Amino acid sequence: GDELRLKWDKAPCRFCGTGCGVMVGVKDGRVVATHGDMRAEVNRGLNCVKGYFLSKIMYGADRLTRPLMRMRNGRFDKEGELQPVSWDAAFDTMAAHWKKILREKGPEAIGMFGSGQWTMFEGYAASKLMRAGFRSNNLDPNARHCMASAAVTFIRTFGSDEPMGCYDDFENADAFVLWGSNMAEMHPILWTRITDRRLSREHVRIHTLSTYEHRTTDLSDAGLIFKPGSDLAILNYIANHIIRTGAVNREFVEKHVNFRLANTDIGYGLRPDHTLELRAQHANDAAVSHASDFDAYARLMSEYTLDRAHELSGVPKSQLEALARLYADPKTKVMSLWTMGFNQHVRGVWANHMIYNIHLLTGKISEPGNGPFSLTGQPSACGTAREVGCFAHRLPADMQVANPDHRKLVEEIWKLPSGLLPAKVGYHAVQQDRMLKDGKLNAYWIMCNNNLQTAPNTNNETYPGYRNPANLIVCSDPYPTVTAMAADIVLPTAMWVEKEGAYGNAERRTQFWRQLVDAPGEARSDLWQLMEFSKRFTTDEVWPAEILAASPEYRGKTLFDVIFRNGQVDSFPLSELSPAHNNQEAKHFGFYVQKGIWEEYIRCGAGHGHDYAPFDTYHEARGLRWPFVDGKETRWRYREGHDPYVEKGSGIQFYGNPDKRANLIGAPYEPPAETPDADYDMWLVTGRVLEHWHSGSMTLRVPELYKAFPGAVLFMHPEDAQRRGLHRGQEVRIVSRRGEIRSRVEIRGRNRMPRGVVFVPFFDASQLINKVTLDATDPISKQTDYKKCAVKIVAL
Ligand code: SF4
Repeated sequence: GDELRLKWDKAPCRFCGTGCGVMVGVKDGRVVATHGDMRAEVNRGLNCVKGYFLSKIMYGADRLTRPLMRMRNGRFDKEGELQPVSWDAAFDTMAAHWKKILREKGPEAIGMFGSGQWTMFEGYAASKLMRAGFRSNNLDPNARHCMASAAVTFIRTFGSDEPMGCYDDFENADAFVLWGSNMAEMHPILWTRITDRRLSREHVRIHTLSTYEHRTTDLSDAGLIFKPGSDLAILNYIANHIIRTGAVNREFVEKHVNFRLANTDIGYGLRPDHTLELRAQHANDAAVSHASDFDAYARLMSEYTLDRAHELSGVPKSQLEALARLYADPKTKVMSLWTMGFNQHVRGVWANHMIYNIHLLTGKISEPGNGPFSLTGQPSACGTAREVGCFAHRLPADMQVANPDHRKLVEEIWKLPSGLLPAKVGYHAVQQDRMLKDGKLNAYWIMCNNNLQTAPNTNNETYPGYRNPANLIVCSDPYPTVTAMAADIVLPTAMWVEKEGAYGNAERRTQFWRQLVDAPGEARSDLWQLMEFSKRFTTDEVWPAEILAASPEYRGKTLFDVIFRNGQVDSFPLSELSPAHNNQEAKHFGFYVQKGIWEEYIRCGAGHGHDYAPFDTYHEARGLRWPFVDGKETRWRYREGHDPYVEKGSGIQFYGNPDKRANLIGAPYEPPAETPDADYDMWLVTGRVLEHWHSGSMTLRVPELYKAFPGAVLFMHPEDAQRRGLHRGQEVRIVSRRGEIRSRVEIRGRNRMPRGVVFVPFFDASQLINKVTLDATDPISKQTDYKKCAVKIVAL
């Protein structure tokens, strides 16, 4: 308390994957203030401008407080207007449709699009309801668009997802290399840790690679501006330099690395009419690369000379050489960082491999200050989307739906009949949109994301599926986003500290918070919604007869009974709740839901590298980094002395793989899926700005952030503007082969484009830049490439 009689409590920030700790001040049932948490190791009391205004994100004037359903003449009608209805009416309509679709088409016609902003409890509940309840793996998170390439490549290389290092690397590195990452605007608090290191240690250097100049390049010692897509060539040039100059750490490589080469048949080709042709799809992991050796890898890399890298990338040779020397120097500790620049790439998996390859060749990995580190965009991209298993191919704790042993283990932990979990990998995010459009996915629930604003090529690939008369589209959101307003049923959602939650940030840190205020009106958390909805189905309606014949004890139960009242999730009584806090789910369902979910979930990873602390520990701590063993968190994985899983005397063990070695997978440069030509002569890059987070549904409702950057603009080079007779502020059309939008020209300001490249942020719902973007995905990770497509800029 203080003299204003505020009640303070801790929470992680609602926005980015940095995971800053904040203190939340509550008065009269309302959040009225926040400040950076001095006790939080991540941010030590600091927040960025978005974090400073967290107290206002829940109080936009248009907050949804009642369920809405499209109605005509008093009945549900897809062509009707959205009107307020009761929760029962909304859920009953949904359940009737779900049952009809299950009867007529089976579980494959049911889908859910989730989120890296879900709490870990919500992601776990959704995964369990979809996979075990409805027996469909058509669950994918918006994190597919965000870091699927990183997640897939961690597993392909190390056999275990997520970075080996942690934020403590910032205080130990001699050099930072930012690959397509504008940390000053996208991860500002981590950027303060880098700048602190740079300004307090004279020898420290920052090299930033990007397709345009921005606030991060301002403080970098070297800003390398490269042609979109050519990062692949630069990475291979660095590997070649390391090999050629004898800088390979032979001992490390011999002991810890397997060499493999990528199968280049798996990928896209460009047809003469500029449409994409998928040459081969990712069938299985074995098909994606093949065993090789150092010599074959060195031969492939030898094609990437300084001249070739310069020619493909446009980066001055002196800059390329300086960067390569930095990685090659055994005395320089290097931290490589990336986010969407690598991941949103039709060759995102290859780009991720190539950065690991450099660190593996030099042995600069898994030790303080040395290592590759993938940043995340969403607050729980790691904790929720990845760890609890919300991808269409994943189960909790890195387990895979296609692996029968993994399914069996999960069935045992979840106390479900043997053989219940489906083996077929579900539809990924972009595929879900296509299946909706084609009428193959007919019951669809979107939670905690704004897909119609953020999916690629939305006019052609996303919106048609929403309007398909065969489909029922449900959207749960706190605000009337573009997606919610296109849905058939809209469910009002409790957000952030209106519920008890857990997020996992980019350094494997799990952070908990309590419910600090009540949600407005009838808004309820996604967890509440999933659980309440599950009551409307019985096992006899949704599970195959043969499963019930073999396990008759499950007969006649509701999905709520078998998933949430299973003797585990419901095993903690209300008396375990903190008396100082409310908990809407526990009070409604009669047991401490979050605690039960947590204690069940952590059994999935215990003993195989994904150990967590017991539930109550997290309410005390400012987050803990897994694996958490014997009361200790792990800062550097795979390294003896830091990671409890590494055997004594072995130094390093990449124990995620059976042979405890990392897979170095060599791949060539490949041109982007679409390149500017005479008709569409400019590169378009999309992304975020400092003030707005993702689609702006929260930050645009904060007056200070809205005023700071009220609408998207088209950043372009002054000479490109001049050549087209355009001036600053002029309205123009941005046209691609897929669609067009209007925006206004900006030739000054923070983003300084090179000639031939334009940038448009995606936060502004009145300028839906994703009508223009390309829906090509990485053939292995299925992540979308938002960072490059061809457009033309036309005066109005
Ligand atoms: Fe929040 Fe990210 Fe800003 Fe930290 S850096 S305050 S987590 S938006």
